[in-house]
Amino acid sequence: MTQLSDTAIADVVAAMGGTLSEDIWTHEDDACDCTFQRVGLWKNPYLGETLHVRWCCIWAELYRLFPQFVRVTPAYLSGEDEWQPGVREWDGESDMPRAIWYRQLRRQTGRTLPEIREAYGSMEPPKGRTRPAVEPDEDVVDPLEAAFAMIEHLAERIVALEARE
Ligand SMILES: [Zn+2]
Repeated sequence: MTQLSDTAIADVVAAMGGTLSEDIWTHEDDACDCTFQRVGLWKNPYLGETLHVRWCCIWAELYRLFPQFVRVTPAYLSGEDEWQPGVREWDGESDMPRAIWYRQLRRQTGRTLPEIREAYGSMEPPKGRTRPAVEPDEDVVDPLEAAFAMIEHLAERIVALEARE
């Protein structure tokens, strides 16, 4: 395919009745007020098409139609059946995603997302923390090392068997 300028690409897409999105939807892009942001993406160069679906917003409409099939619990379900109330302090290695931070602040303060975006938009989310390196446990068997030891043992057996012939 020949390289086209951004303007030419936009013109081609416009001629086909589409527009090029400046903001590509992603998880945690904070482009909607859904608590759990979920975006579907399908694309294929042979079809020359890309489909983005904002599932979270579609689901939100469905939740309104079928409230009897929706349960929102203000607690975290850890494992199969252990409920943990409250929110956990950020302890990830990377910085806290802004969208998650805003939703955590919403939970903590009871304010709306637009209010939180206004109040915290110029502030930085909590920083990530480097985890301490884990010391290797001497009792743990390295599977690769074990495999090589087994291969070496088999090679010795083959040499010994061949020597008997
Ligand atoms: Zn949404």
